[in-house]
Amino acid sequence: MGQQRHFIDLEERYGAHNYKPLDVVLTRGRGVWVWDVDDRKYLDCLAAYSAVNQGHCHPRIMQAMLDQAQKLTLTSRAFRNDQLGPFYEELCALTNSHKVLPMNSGAEAVESVIKAVRKWGYEVKGIPHDQAEIIVCDNNFHGRTISIVGFSSDDSARKGFGPFPAGFTSIPFGNARAFAEAITENTVALLVEPLQGEAGVIIPPDGYLKEVKHICEKHDLVLVLDEIQTGLGRTGRLLAEEHDGIEADLTLVGKALSGGFYPVSAVLSNSEVMGVLRPGEHGSTFGGNPLACAVAREALKVLVEEGMIDNAARMGDYFLQGLKTIRDPKIKEVRGKGLMIGLELYPEAGGGRKYSELLKEEGLLCKDTHKDTLRFAPPLVITRAEVDYALERIDRVLTQDP
Ligand SMILES: *Cc1c(COP(=O)(O)O)cnc(C)c1O
Repeated sequence: MGQQRHFIDLEERYGAHNYKPLDVVLTRGRGVWVWDVDDRKYLDCLAAYSAVNQGHCHPRIMQAMLDQAQKLTLTSRAFRNDQLGPFYEELCALTNSHKVLPMNSGAEAVESVIKAVRKWGYEVKGIPHDQAEIIVCDNNFHGRTISIVGFSSDDSARKGFGPFPAGFTSIPFGNARAFAEAITENTVALLVEPLQGEAGVIIPPDGYLKEVKHICEKHDLVLVLDEIQTGLGRTGRLLAEEHDGIEADLTLVGKALSGGFYPVSAVLSNSEVMGVLRPGEHGSTFGGNPLACAVAREALKVLVEEGMIDNAARMGDYFLQGLKTIRDPKIKEVRGKGLMIGLELYPEAGGGRKYSELLKEEGLLCKDTHKDTLRFAPPLVITRAEVDYALERIDRVLTQDP
């Protein structure tokens, strides 16, 4: 354990125990690599749940952050700042959106969208007051606030935290017919992840998004895609919606929007829905602050200019194919899109946690999700040799464990 025990003890003694991290205490990172306090190095195959798509401590983003930190960090939205407008313009141009609402965390972006689509339902669609319904999907993950965990189907996220706001209906994921059947006269929106990450990298059937988009158009509903994890290159496209050739009405981005330097999220919208929010009706002290905007502008630039999205597609294929060649009776399925990859074990293997711990000992960090699935989602700057490093270790740990 070396130096690590001391830091672990402090965390355990003084911190809330709302996480059960692997016992590795990291102190620095560069690209796909991180080092612990004993100077052991690990390949990071979680990338902070895809917040570090651009790689740890990307030098260009770091420089943008330092430059802006010396000029101006926070004005609040009581005043304007010279980073916000350019951030809006660049983000809209990149994602083909009309309007942006800047927030900080992913959960805040989700909360913002719930408010916006409800208000749109009342003002534009004429739904009776306080009756708006939003359809969500089973096994969703959209964050940790009260309204969001209220429509979670995960007991550990939800149990003991009620009462919750009403107005949400949950349906099976990946089933367009279930969606069509759940629509009522008060439905305003479908909120869905293009691929469910936390649920264990669950990929819907081909054409699912196209079908739900079509159903939304037919019933005049807002399609909200939560791309907080799947967006910004993770699946080999800028946004995962591109795989289905559609455009959501509202898209949520966060996580990699800052390349891991700072919490920045945003709701991307067409004009009509965002138009219902007027001065004083929504806001956030830190939302759209100049430091966040400067960091996000550079994080988006490096993602595009340094070819990270194409690299995610190429290295994702290579990683996935490599995993598929591993022969071990514990493996139930390997699946993924771009660099969002899940390796599901049979329950008899005893859960993914044990293997993430063994992989840590081998110099690879990853996280089990939904008990039996190991998720591999490294920074998008990973090279072929680094994928080989990962494959070699995953193969060894799985096949050598009885
Ligand atoms: C991480 C995540 C969120 C929540 O983001 P926070 O910044 O942790 O609040 C919401 N939706 C999805 C799909 C996510 O992966």
